[in-house]
Amino acid sequence: MCSNPLIVRILYLFKTTLSIIKFIIPIGLIIMTAIDLYKNLINGNDENYSNIKKIGRRMFAAILVFCIPTFITLIFELLNINTTSSNFASCYSEASLELASKLEEEENLKLKEADEASRKQALLNSQIYNAQLKAMQEENLKRNQSSNQGTYNDTTTDMNKQNHVYIKNGVFYAPKYRSGNSSTYSGKDCPGSNALKKGYNNKYGYNNYFWTMLQNFREGLKAAGYNINYSNQGCRSYDYQVDFYKRAEPGRAAKPGRSNHGWGIASDVDFYKNSTTKCGSGRNYKNCPGMKWAHEHAKDYGLTFPLLNASYKEDWHLEPLNLKKY
Ligand SMILES: [Zn+2]
Repeated sequence: MCSNPLIVRILYLFKTTLSIIKFIIPIGLIIMTAIDLYKNLINGNDENYSNIKKIGRRMFAAILVFCIPTFITLIFELLNINTTSSNFASCYSEASLELASKLEEEENLKLKEADEASRKQALLNSQIYNAQLKAMQEENLKRNQSSNQGTYNDTTTDMNKQNHVYIKNGVFYAPKYRSGNSSTYSGKDCPGSNALKKGYNNKYGYNNYFWTMLQNFREGLKAAGYNINYSNQGCRSYDYQVDFYKRAEPGRAAKPGRSNHGWGIASDVDFYKNSTTKCGSGRNYKNCPGMKWAHEHAKDYGLTFPLLNASYKEDWHLEPLNLKKY
């Protein structure tokens, strides 16, 4: 408590007020008594007994007031005996303006030190962040290089090559749509109880290998100062495609069972002008340099935008570059 400058100031004010009262009231009482005695003398009153009583009462009051500060100090000391808190009596007796300003200075110094410490921490954090980012980019570069020619070692995906996506020597293989054979229809394998087994266990339900490639691509874009956002619909169910096909204009949507979205190997993306600002619907290469970069560099990441020159141009639709149907 004694380390709080405001409390020290209040205690000091209280103490000063008390010591003024201690003198003023007794002096006032003495003056009043002197006036009374003088009046009595002039008027020739002779009520000595009641006058003596009056004077006695005033003297008693004067002594009482004079002693108040001492009483207070005494009470604090008595209270102190039974408390484990900081020594209030000494706190009261030590309270002064010098102590208050000393404490204020100390407080300011502490604030300054805390400020300095948080600035140092922020600098350290940014250094750590940059180091992590660099390590991640290097890791992604390595992963990217191997992902373009490597094989997909997830044996749970390779286990059953029939009727779902698998990857071999960097090539994606997806079933060819066969009318009447529903097991070849895309969207039937979208995340559900079989998700893990079929290799769709990342957070949006993309094919795991494709998802890894998307991450690498994002890191590349980030290093170039852009960003990209992948649709959170990683795997589009057959039922969804049926509904979508019904609602879409003719030729706009893939026929149900034929969309690569249903195999978790296509993503509809959002482009960014820079690291934070999304490109809107009226985008072009000039006002959306992030899209230009993405279109030009997708192939370096084993990806492609196959519908750039389609009759229904879709500049956002992203797929693996090496994709075969079996
Ligand atoms: Zn699409």
